[in-house]
Amino acid sequence: MLSRPKLGGHRVVARVTLDVAVRREFDYLVPEELEPSVHEGTRVKVPFGPREVMGMVTAVLDESPHGNLREIIKTVGGQALVTPPILRLVRWIADYYCCAPEIAMKAVLPDAVRKEEEGWRERLYVRALPQHGEPPKLTKRQEDLWTIVEEWRELPLQELVRLAGTTSATIRKLEDKGLVSIAPQISERDPYAKEHILPTQPLELNAQQVTALESIVESMERLAKRDDDETKPGGDNVFLLHGVTGSGKTEVYLQAIAHALGQGNGAIVLVPEISLTPQTVERFKARFSQGPQQTLVAVLHSHLSAGERHDEWHKIRQGRARIVIGARSAVFAPVEPLGLVIVDEEHEHSYKQEEAPRYNARDLAVVRGQQEGAAVVLGSATPCMESYHNVQRKKYGLLSLTERVDNIQMPIVRVIDMRSAARKEKGVGIFSPQLREAILQRLEKNEQVMLFLNRRGWSSSLQCPECGFVAECPNCSVSLTYHRAAQQLMCHICGHIEAAPKKCPQTECGNVAIRFSGLGTEKVEAALEKGFPSARVKRMDSDTLKRKEDYRRILGDFRTGKIDILVGTQMIAKGLHFPNVTLVGIIHADLSLHIPDFRAGERTFQLLTQVAGRAGRGEVEGEVYVQSFTPFHPAIQYARRHDYVGFYEQEIEFRQQLNYPPVGRVALLTLRGRSEDRVKFVADHLRREMDTVAKELGEVVVAGPAPAPLLRAENFYRYQIMLRTSRMPQLSRKLSALRETFQIPDDLRLVIDIDPMSLS
Ligand code: ADP
Ligand code: ZN
Repeated sequence: MLSRPKLGGHRVVARVTLDVAVRREFDYLVPEELEPSVHEGTRVKVPFGPREVMGMVTAVLDESPHGNLREIIKTVGGQALVTPPILRLVRWIADYYCCAPEIAMKAVLPDAVRKEEEGWRERLYVRALPQHGEPPKLTKRQEDLWTIVEEWRELPLQELVRLAGTTSATIRKLEDKGLVSIAPQISERDPYAKEHILPTQPLELNAQQVTALESIVESMERLAKRDDDETKPGGDNVFLLHGVTGSGKTEVYLQAIAHALGQGNGAIVLVPEISLTPQTVERFKARFSQGPQQTLVAVLHSHLSAGERHDEWHKIRQGRARIVIGARSAVFAPVEPLGLVIVDEEHEHSYKQEEAPRYNARDLAVVRGQQEGAAVVLGSATPCMESYHNVQRKKYGLLSLTERVDNIQMPIVRVIDMRSAARKEKGVGIFSPQLREAILQRLEKNEQVMLFLNRRGWSSSLQCPECGFVAECPNCSVSLTYHRAAQQLMCHICGHIEAAPKKCPQTECGNVAIRFSGLGTEKVEAALEKGFPSARVKRMDSDTLKRKEDYRRILGDFRTGKIDILVGTQMIAKGLHFPNVTLVGIIHADLSLHIPDFRAGERTFQLLTQVAGRAGRGEVEGEVYVQSFTPFHPAIQYARRHDYVGFYEQEIEFRQQLNYPPVGRVALLTLRGRSEDRVKFVADHLRREMDTVAKELGEVVVAGPAPAPLLRAENFYRYQIMLRTSRMPQLSRKLSALRETFQIPDDLRLVIDIDPMSLS
């Protein structure tokens, strides 16, 4: 082998994505002394113009097409922070979601990790911990190491590495077994440290659970046997686990994870932020807190402090936590090798990130599974249309759990036609006579009631019947919501607040009989207190939750029977389990049907099914009342019958006719600016560009520009162009290119959203 000439010879080049937004990558020379420490994923400090900036090495090359390269200043941190599989995912995100590489890169590392300039905890000490009871089983190497630590009682980590001729990873194993602590002056920040967790054993599965687990296990076995050079795994590694609430999906996840660990692989569990409660986390920690598959379980979600997030992330990166449970961004957890990704409540819209990069974590889970040869399980009681469509197209395997584990029947759902109620009573009451009667009966029996309305505040608009005045937000094109307790009018888009008027503010009018219309939870609460004076009523929505612990406290009071009726927004719709709730009332089921979005029906079906699932989870059979002005709408009728497949089949016809997802795919281009005329003008120009793209590519339908459903938000006017296509990757590439060439004036902004979840 030839040695590398020292002068004027061959130099190694690193391609670097800078943290600063410049929409491209730059090449740098690697100084010879840094060559051993520069790899894909290494954090580096580089010169950029007159400044020094941080960046990430995305490739190490032999040469560069550019001349006059500058040198990397230094590397930061020991281990490469971004592993090659995650780098691959970053590239995929940048390509598919049309965003700059540095934007995609930003999403994959927590800020606390990315911004860390120096190595992590340079001076660490290893301390022997007092031991009680049975000593843990140790390998020969660990045994030797333990003997040294016992003798010294406490010594610097680096010292121990040298003395024992071992690695810090092996020492970490002792820590995981509870023999030693490794810490500087402060000890490790474990957000769940105070909780005492009792270990659990696997449950004996029922027949449907066994079938589901076996399919997942077979897939993991197949993936493990695959040679590296074989082609990527096909559809046979992704499963949709369609199971009604309480059917035991989580138990299937737990046993699938145990199998992955047994194969030497790690697992990621994605859960919507709102369901990521201590109870959820505890179920996972408890199962893997001891036994042959013992491991740490890392938790990643937005309520961790920067320090906690930093520590959790490094536990994963060091391979000490083999299981990660977290919200959307946990899809980027550096678990290696990855055997299994679970996406619970996969239909949840919160998996979509509504700022750049606008990724959907559910879809990225599938991409990661394909890239890294991991099995993927998407679980839901109401799968999204996209996932079930993929089952129909044989891209995903279907696993069904059709019954609740405890054999409890699904609740009876009664739809109440509010049109006839309105006719009979001359004007619409909040509660139909049937719902009122049902509430009375349940209260008499000391059972609990949940009432659901997806709108907070007292009423959604304030009007003057004399002059026609409507109170609107000065910044957004919406009417202001009246909050009675605060005596305020509030905009639910931008947060604008003003004092509620006592009479019509139009000076020439001044009518004192102003009218509030459109019902909110605050008014429902007041109506309950008036109509059921002996009942203890509590409201739960973002207005009543002022502090972090309020959520837990209210639910705790409800659980222990200190509350009879809980009224709330979608916050109470999901995942909660209260055995004594026998009646659920949905005050206005049509609210979500009338949003201008092709997914309105699907959302309504999902919401009704989820809310209805709160009733009758204990001994007594549950009952659900759905009040509606469009009682025969399919979304309502199929939810009434608990018929997911029926809903899917009629809904897919409508999507097919208009080539909406999941049949086609959508890219939504939104232009915004302060002048409506300018926004419109540029949008028209953009439309012509899109027509050209559509002609070149074929199979692209262009619609718009049209004012966004919410034309003005926070003082910006917004116009949209919607593209529908069956060839999204190709279209994405065209859109990325367009970003470079299409001149957008400085005072306007263009947002490209691929596979948008919200069209507002
Ligand atoms: P899901 O995730 O589908 O809502 P869970 O996994 O939470 O359902 O299961 C609901 C309840 O049933 C839990 O208390 C769980 O411990 C229990 N359970 C699940 N599987 C079994 C089983 N095979 N035998 C007994 N109980 C089970
Ligand atoms: Zn506003």
